[in-house]
Amino acid sequence: MTLPTRSDLDAVPAYRQGRPAPAGASKLSSNESPHPPLPSVVTAVQQQLGSIHRYPRMSAPEVIGRLAERYGVDPALVTVGAGSVELAAQLIGAVAGAGDEVMFAWRSFEAYPSLVRIAGATPVEVPLDADHRHDLDAMLAAITPRTRLVFVCNPNNPTGTVVGAAELERFVDAVPRDVLVVIDEAYVHFDRSEYFDGPDRGAGLELHRRYPHVAVLHTFSKAYGLAGLRIGYAIAPAEIADAQRKVAVPFGVTDLAQAAAVASLDAEAELAIRIDEVVAERDRMRDALLAAGWPAVASEANFVWVPAGDRTAELDELLHAGGVVARAFAGEGVRISSGNAEDADRVAAALAAATDGPAAGRLAAEGVLA
Ligand SMILES: *Cc1c(COP(=O)(O)O)cnc(C)c1O
Repeated sequence: MTLPTRSDLDAVPAYRQGRPAPAGASKLSSNESPHPPLPSVVTAVQQQLGSIHRYPRMSAPEVIGRLAERYGVDPALVTVGAGSVELAAQLIGAVAGAGDEVMFAWRSFEAYPSLVRIAGATPVEVPLDADHRHDLDAMLAAITPRTRLVFVCNPNNPTGTVVGAAELERFVDAVPRDVLVVIDEAYVHFDRSEYFDGPDRGAGLELHRRYPHVAVLHTFSKAYGLAGLRIGYAIAPAEIADAQRKVAVPFGVTDLAQAAAVASLDAEAELAIRIDEVVAERDRMRDALLAAGWPAVASEANFVWVPAGDRTAELDELLHAGGVVARAFAGEGVRISSGNAEDADRVAAALAAATDGPAAGRLAAEGVLA
């Protein structure tokens, strides 16, 4: 006899991590930083190691204090979680349950549909427009009395497209005030459009200040390079932040992660140099894709989306043969994370190898091609 599990879990897709990269390959499948942690961050984590026999401080006083000060918000509005994916789950859990709808664009962040189902709520997916952007008019039209939360992933994963500040404000203004709008800015540091108006300031925060129904999600995983330590934060309306603290699984954010986050906030000038490099390599990688005839979409994130359609498997294999592990979405396209100059060179060489032998020969000689 098997034990019964919740029947509604049948509809939950399993979260698929980017495929593992063989040694020596460029792992461009999970939008991680190509850089190892900064020495100051390593030191900060090492200083915490002697106290890992203690539970972490759930109130995360330093990191929350620093963030509240930086953004000029009440610390009670700031919550931290084991990555912003945990905060996305908390926000859903704070407002939605059985019979409620949670809306997002599609394709967007892969975790949204699962998180919504796990909460027992119903995901409502609104297709991106022909330019791979959020179709905000269609999203407005899809709001029903059951809608409790709307995610706007800006820039969007996996397409890298951005909703401009003015467009987003029109949208937020038109959404009923009893529907929470969550602006997921995981990639905002890589954005060079007008949406990004200074270090760590997407337009989301400004909207949070001006509207009572807006929350913003940021993470230390991507631009700050702490994906493995699991820490992100939300800035939300007070009643939502209170509810988040109720639904949170206790002790999710370790003191190691809190220390690393504070050290990263202290090292933003150093991190900015790394971010600029990733942005430059992203644009170089897109140029190489376009030059090779692939329809790479202009990106404001740390990855490039290639809506290759029925040539998705072909592109994925070609990259793989060139020592590049990207993220393929069957029949839709391939998302390639931006890494360092060597990674972008690999992508260019892999594309060239499809048409001429020498690049393939060189990669084989380097032991990159199996
Ligand atoms: C990567 C990502 C996150 C969060 O990642 P964490 O590591 O959990 O902080 C959130 N939203 C989007 C759209 C992402 O791509």
